[in-house]
Amino acid sequence: MEPTSICPECGGNGWQTLHLENRQVVKRCKCFEDKKILRLVEKANIPPRYKDCSLENFEAMTPKLNLAKTMARQFVENYPMVECGLLILGPCGVGKTHLAVSILQALVHDHGISCLFYDFRELLKEIQNSYNTVVKTNEWQILEPVLQSEVLVLDDLGSERPTDWVRDTFAYIINHRYNQKRTTLLTSNFGDQETEHGILNDGHRVNNEENLADRIGYRLRSRLYEMCKVIKIAGSDFRIEVKQAQYQF
Ligand SMILES: [Zn+2]
Repeated sequence: MEPTSICPECGGNGWQTLHLENRQVVKRCKCFEDKKILRLVEKANIPPRYKDCSLENFEAMTPKLNLAKTMARQFVENYPMVECGLLILGPCGVGKTHLAVSILQALVHDHGISCLFYDFRELLKEIQNSYNTVVKTNEWQILEPVLQSEVLVLDDLGSERPTDWVRDTFAYIINHRYNQKRTTLLTSNFGDQETEHGILNDGHRVNNEENLADRIGYRLRSRLYEMCKVIKIAGSDFRIEVKQAQYQF
């Protein structure tokens, strides 16, 4: 049903009257729940590019992607009985954002909960803009939904140059959500182990990549591991495959 059309079942008031033997009962019309889901999807701040992403159209063309998809499905099915969030790691272009948005969409549709998506750089930019007195938002208006939303996706972690302010802001968000036992999903292009410093098993260095700890610091990396299960996604690139061969689930 289109959001603007009037529901033929209830005439738009959101209640249906049922006639049971000699009495009438009213119950919520399905359109009421549908509208609630639509509102939650709108509030989730999903970028237009990703708004049609779902687990159904997530193409799992490699065993690693298939495993990632299975873990994502399990996460959604088990929610809210999940002990942790998810940290989705892998190189550019392998579908991390698609997977994170798919989980978020499924949580909204299947569980009707409030979710919020933010590209990490975009979030930082909005917070910085709020310091500008001409802009009519303040820092708290930006941060409140980020801290309070039942499930938060922070996309592309580590992409911003890691200044003290960036790390402090990230630490504040992550520690607040951790203490409040709120679920957080994160994606990052950066590897997560010291051995991933571009060094292969035979000791050869393949590149000068930084890892996640370089970008966010060891303490925050540890905190993420306390609050997230890690999903590693490999690409089809040979160099990536070689690196990913070192990963252990
Ligand atoms: Zn209705």
